Amino acid sequence: MDRRESFKALGLGAAGFASLGAIKEVMSEAKAAPPQPAANGRDRARAGGMPALKIKDIKVIITKVEGTNMVTCKIYTSEAGLYGLGCGTHAERPSIVADMIEKYFKPMLIGRNADEIEKIWQELWIAPYWRASVDANNAMAAIDAALWDIMGKRCGVPVYDLLGGKVRDGLRMLGDIQARTPQILEDSIRKMMEDGYDHFRIYLANPNGQPAASSAPRSAGGGTVDATNPRASVEARGNDVEYIKRLCDAFELIRNKIGWDIEIGHDVHERPTPRGAIMLAKAVEPYRPFYIEDLFAPEDSEWYKIVRQQASIGIAMGELFVNQNEWLPLVANRLIDIMRMHISAAGGLNLARKVAHTCEFFGVTTSWHGPANVSPIGHAVNMHIDLSIYNFGVCEGRPFSEQLQELFPGCPEIRKGIRYSNDLPGLGIDLDEKVAAKYAPDGNYGSQRGAYDREGAPKRP
Ligand code: MG
Repeated sequence: MDRRESFKALGLGAAGFASLGAIKEVMSEAKAAPPQPAANGRDRARAGGMPALKIKDIKVIITKVEGTNMVTCKIYTSEAGLYGLGCGTHAERPSIVADMIEKYFKPMLIGRNADEIEKIWQELWIAPYWRASVDANNAMAAIDAALWDIMGKRCGVPVYDLLGGKVRDGLRMLGDIQARTPQILEDSIRKMMEDGYDHFRIYLANPNGQPAASSAPRSAGGGTVDATNPRASVEARGNDVEYIKRLCDAFELIRNKIGWDIEIGHDVHERPTPRGAIMLAKAVEPYRPFYIEDLFAPEDSEWYKIVRQQASIGIAMGELFVNQNEWLPLVANRLIDIMRMHISAAGGLNLARKVAHTCEFFGVTTSWHGPANVSPIGHAVNMHIDLSIYNFGVCEGRPFSEQLQELFPGCPEIRKGIRYSNDLPGLGIDLDEKVAAKYAPDGNYGSQRGAYDREGAPKRP
């Protein structure tokens, strides 16, 4: 039985959308079966047309999984059982996003035609008058993804088909390695190469061998710095040179021991001084990194003009972008190579598809921001865009934990370094509300980002 037949056998409704149970069953079967295109409902949509579909209700579900607050929006429609899900995860400020949806967007949207995705997006964008708030953007992204999910389910096709269809079967994944020692770095790369990975973003801890972490050094406000973080030492000592030396040592080790058949990169996380960032770009150039991320903060992006003239490294940028004035000049002036936008923070799928197509014309590839503070629904959004565009680069994301898979049935899967869609209608992913009860937020909403230098002055995380 192929997947389409499985759908029918599972008794999916006339509209062709999948129940939670159906998704779970089809997903377990899908592990063994090769991907099949979903055509369920497509002919019906073309042949007879469908009655107007209204937004009936909107609910926000906040969960806290593995320490990360996730915001999911659920939109119910006038068709019984047909709903859509969207991710508006602002892990640091989840309740603000929830308020935005429930108090401001929901009254605007009840009774509206659920098919008017672009129109609704434009209305939400201008509704507060001031644009480009990261809180409003996340709320818009949650609404927007849920509407795309609904349209896909109703038509019986995955969202990537609504966006133009698959350009590729799956997405090449970025291997993210935080190593305590040079030997662990080498061994970890080799192991992931055996698993099919050929693009790596690497971090190497300082020589005392303390654990490394990719997240920013954090402080509860006491002015302390996690000096074990491979990047924290830059802030602690204000020492660009030491940071550059350690990064070059790591790159040299990889090129000497493993060779040149893999792509390597690193996230600078806007930590060095502008002068240090230029030094770093020139210093790592001999190792041919495809990806040096966030040399500068968005507010310092004029410096990219200087870097571009001095080093031919791949430049990745974008997880902090919230409006087009930040990314469009960098793309149009050919100052970056890889778009790293955090899709929900910038306004969602509807905006990101336009960003992706703009990038195509300037040779910029996508690598949407995809760490743990993007929910699996957000990852599904990233994936559906990347499957349907020409200029996909590399996908950030790890295999989803058992907890996340239990909470979000239908999580995209990684096989041999490639992420695959389950090819189900809509975004192909659900949220089990019974399971969500287990992961209710603990009242400690959000978190405080931010770092401190050794004198106690606040630093960008
Ligand atoms: Mg980053």
